[in-house]
Amino acid sequence: MARARTLKTHSRTLATLAVGVAAGALVGGGSLALASSKVPTSDKQITNMTDEVSEIKAYYGDTVDANGEHWASPSSNYAIQVQGIEAKAEKYLAQKIQRDRSGKRAIVLDIDDTALSTYNYELETTFVYSPASNAQYIATKNFPAVFGMNNLANWAQAKGYTVFYITGRPESQRADTIRQLASQGFPDADDSHLFLKDTANPPSYLGTCAAPAWTCTTTQYKSGTRAHLESQGWVITANFGDQYSDLNGGYSEQTYKLPNPMYYLP
Ligand SMILES: [Mg+2]
Repeated sequence: MARARTLKTHSRTLATLAVGVAAGALVGGGSLALASSKVPTSDKQITNMTDEVSEIKAYYGDTVDANGEHWASPSSNYAIQVQGIEAKAEKYLAQKIQRDRSGKRAIVLDIDDTALSTYNYELETTFVYSPASNAQYIATKNFPAVFGMNNLANWAQAKGYTVFYITGRPESQRADTIRQLASQGFPDADDSHLFLKDTANPPSYLGTCAAPAWTCTTTQYKSGTRAHLESQGWVITANFGDQYSDLNGGYSEQTYKLPNPMYYLP
């Protein structure tokens, strides 16, 4: 997840301006990359940042444990929304495998905020992502599963799907990522089913965006990896992600966008 981040709304850019600059989030012309290109002309067009954080916490059903750690609640509106998406996906996956039992059907999951919830990390860092704090968290802690996604992945595997994970986390976090997925009971949590971003030694199938110098966008990296899987005969029936850059670029029959109001990744 060592990526420059931009925030979904202008109101939250202030909080991440410093880290954005440090992480190289400035784009051409020196302006900050925004999900929305509109520059507010009045403060009334901007959600107050304090209110926005309160809304996010309410949506996730923020609970605080005895150690002061913040967690999402399984009865939250976030969990309910995710469960609705999972139910639709299960219905679709059941129909697809019913019609085609060729044995080469797969689903693809992004990891952060698709398979594993980073809510605790985001609250710990007050929504100010940095590669350093994120790497430290990944090396020392386990993220909980996004509500029900581990069950969905196991259900899909039992139905005959192979589960692949394609993440923007760096190759150096391979072992910790496998440990984290396994800790939450995700199936196929092993080297051959996990694709991380290897900018130093990229796979040749990513082509000219990866070498001789890495310039791949997230969409190029992820869709290129899915194209590689399809070239090996896999049919990617469904692709799950919390960012549109996880889902764009084709090479899946269906996409499922999970909610994530906490941050935006181009
Ligand atoms: Mg993600």
